[in-house]
Amino acid sequence: MRRLTQITAVVLLALSWGLETSSLRGAEYKKYVLAIGIDGLRTDALDAATTPHIDALKENGAFSNTCKILGTRYQKNDTISGPGWTSYLTGVWADKHGVHDNEFGGQKIDRYPHFFNLLKQQFPDYLTASFVDWYPIDKYVLSKADIRVGFEAHGADGYTTFDQMVADRAVNVLAKRDVRATMVYFGATDENGHRHGFHPSVPQYRKSIETVDQHIGRLVAAIKSRPDYDQEDWLILISSDHGGEGKGHGSGHQVPDIHNIYFIVSGESAAKGELKQQVYLVDLVATALKHLDVPSRPAWQLDGKPVGLMPRPQ
Ligand SMILES: [Zn+2]
Repeated sequence: MRRLTQITAVVLLALSWGLETSSLRGAEYKKYVLAIGIDGLRTDALDAATTPHIDALKENGAFSNTCKILGTRYQKNDTISGPGWTSYLTGVWADKHGVHDNEFGGQKIDRYPHFFNLLKQQFPDYLTASFVDWYPIDKYVLSKADIRVGFEAHGADGYTTFDQMVADRAVNVLAKRDVRATMVYFGATDENGHRHGFHPSVPQYRKSIETVDQHIGRLVAAIKSRPDYDQEDWLILISSDHGGEGKGHGSGHQVPDIHNIYFIVSGESAAKGELKQQVYLVDLVATALKHLDVPSRPAWQLDGKPVGLMPRPQ
């Protein structure tokens, strides 16, 4: 009898596993996006660091480690946070959004807004949430966030502390609120790179990536704890704004370790394995909106395209 129960359990487990891994989550599932930003994440340093949570997301999704932070049309912006995060969050390059450096002078973010704004044009009732500790994102780029946490961190220790607070606040909201689009930003990686060096051999830099990985593990656990998680289709996107070399990353137009970054698309609706096509930072918004069933409007003039999503059953 006990043996039979064990066999039954194994069969049931196999059945449920098969269902979970083979079924593409269709229209009956509510769609959610979590976009995670890790500042100054050099690709070979992520590979070298011990990051079980990011690895698991990568396993259950599609990725590129040659995603470009600069487009082919226009490259006059610096390879630093201001233009990087603005491209990540608006889905257009710097000739449109106008951010060329960290001063944000000449920005046209009203015209090319944060993707929460685009989402709200289609679904005004969808809740959105932003958790950041590089304050210019909150000050200049963000709009239409129903839940808004913007800390102003300084220095490597400040970012380490505030990243933890960002994660705490995000965990709480992801577990309990019906937020369709969330952006969570971590900054300590970049600060540690500037202080100790952006390189896989630098222990402090690697450690800062591993700390972010722990935060990401908590975000994923919060999502999985949701009471209706089985009826939800979460797409988790991870990318960065630039890599680094030595103790910096400015003027990195010709430096692959600076202008190539990771782009990870994870979830039941994500394709699986390494993406063959060239991926760009501006693809993040197009991918998020596609997952959320928001048709791209010509007026938005988005520069990106959806990447890493499986074709949806009709
Ligand atoms: Zn940065």
